[in-house]
Amino acid sequence: MAETIFSKIIRKEIPADIVFEDEQVLAFRDINPQGPTHVLVIPKEEIATANDIGEEHELLIGHMVRVATQVAKDEGIAEDGYRLVVNCNPDGGQEVYHIHLHLIGGRKMTWPPG
Ligand code: AMP
Repeated sequence: MAETIFSKIIRKEIPADIVFEDEQVLAFRDINPQGPTHVLVIPKEEIATANDIGEEHELLIGHMVRVATQVAKDEGIAEDGYRLVVNCNPDGGQEVYHIHLHLIGGRKMTWPPG
């Protein structure tokens, strides 16, 4: 897959407001936040889209979800609630082709999405 801007963030070549990091994942604030809290959780491994998740990624994807829920607790939005979103490909609204989990909260959201 072609490298994206998120690889540069992982390598710290461009700045990001990082809220959590370990060997497997990085979580940082979205540059164009859609709510008072908007954090992206990304794997350090380059996986382009949700369609590219394989059996070998099951633990990693589970870890991403758990990190996102922990960040939600740390941000103080867990009890009121939040949304976890993975956009896939053009119809899903994906712009950056390095898989990422959006954690959005701090405001009441509507359903269905536009
Ligand atoms: P998506 O549309 O699901 O691919 O989401 C990509 C997200 O990455 C968008 O919400 C952008 O605002 C966000 N984004 C793009 N570049 C950066 C950056 N340099 N730092 C933080 N967030 C970014």
